[in-house]
Amino acid sequence: MTARIIDGKAFAEGLRGRIAGHVQRLQREHGITPGLAVVIVGEDPGSQVYVRNKARQTVEAGMLSEKYELPAETSEAELLDLIGRLNNSDRVHGILVQLPLPKHIDPNRVILAIAPAKDVDCFTPESVGRLSIGLPGPVSCTPLGCLMLLRDTLGRLEGLNAVILGRSNLVGKPMAQLLLRENCTITVAHSRTKNLPEMVRGADIVVAAVGRPLLVKGDWIRPGATVIDVGINRVAAPEKGEGKTRLVGDVDFEAAAKVAGAITPVPGGVGPMTIACLLANTVTTASLINGLVPPKDLTP
Ligand code: NAD
Repeated sequence: MTARIIDGKAFAEGLRGRIAGHVQRLQREHGITPGLAVVIVGEDPGSQVYVRNKARQTVEAGMLSEKYELPAETSEAELLDLIGRLNNSDRVHGILVQLPLPKHIDPNRVILAIAPAKDVDCFTPESVGRLSIGLPGPVSCTPLGCLMLLRDTLGRLEGLNAVILGRSNLVGKPMAQLLLRENCTITVAHSRTKNLPEMVRGADIVVAAVGRPLLVKGDWIRPGATVIDVGINRVAAPEKGEGKTRLVGDVDFEAAAKVAGAITPVPGGVGPMTIACLLANTVTTASLINGLVPPKDLTP
């Protein structure tokens, strides 16, 4: 068997097109332009690339983008003051603080300062709670992207066995919540799990979010299963020349693609979905803040 390759890049492009359509409708019918504020503290080059991409895609979708690039020596009080102002700004419907923050700033204090109604990263206890009991609101971006790809691939997910590798607040836990809401039967595996290969062999859906290159082997995959590889790992690529690197996922793609029914590649699978879902969340929060029902195709 050769798996169908799930093209996250193409899906994300289509999603961004639909988001732009919703933005136009919000402007035309309600005079609302969804606005996303992205805050970055310090000069981490990786974070700067992310922030630039987020700002560009926000503008391309017709939304308002506000970018705050603060020096590394910014104090926690100054950052909290900015968040307070963004919480009160009528132009801003989503606030994203790019992590990691410099060591002298407590990320939890910063996250707790974000107004839950504008928490497009779904980090605050209020957002996590709403997701868990099924109330409308923003949903963690990467798991929302994974869910959209799974639905597009499989249609209904009801009754399927899903094994999620990783239990982070960012990916594993919200992924479990979302798949539970789809009536999947969930197993969450983590670093202390025993018999991981055996567990994965029972899965109709495998979501790998561990951060260990090629951890999941081809012979762990049940024939026909759907594999979503969230991992992004940079490894040495001597075949490309000395000192060169390449990106790989948590799944041994070559081997798994011979067994799985469908699989996401790395890069080009889950990665492009994350920013698209950030934009989707901003449309959702802009709708809810204004008493409107968020577009159905942008929510779980
Ligand atoms: P994390 O480090 O916070 O969590 C990793 C999880 O993996 C932990 O819960 C840990 O218990 C589990 N784990 C560790 N070793 C394990 C093992 N041997 N077997 C099973 N579970 C094990 O990481 P994260 O933030 O959830 O990210 C995971 C991966 O996903 C990383 O590679 C990250 O770069 C990537 N990621 C990608 C996107 C995207 O947009 N595609 C977004 C977020 C994270």
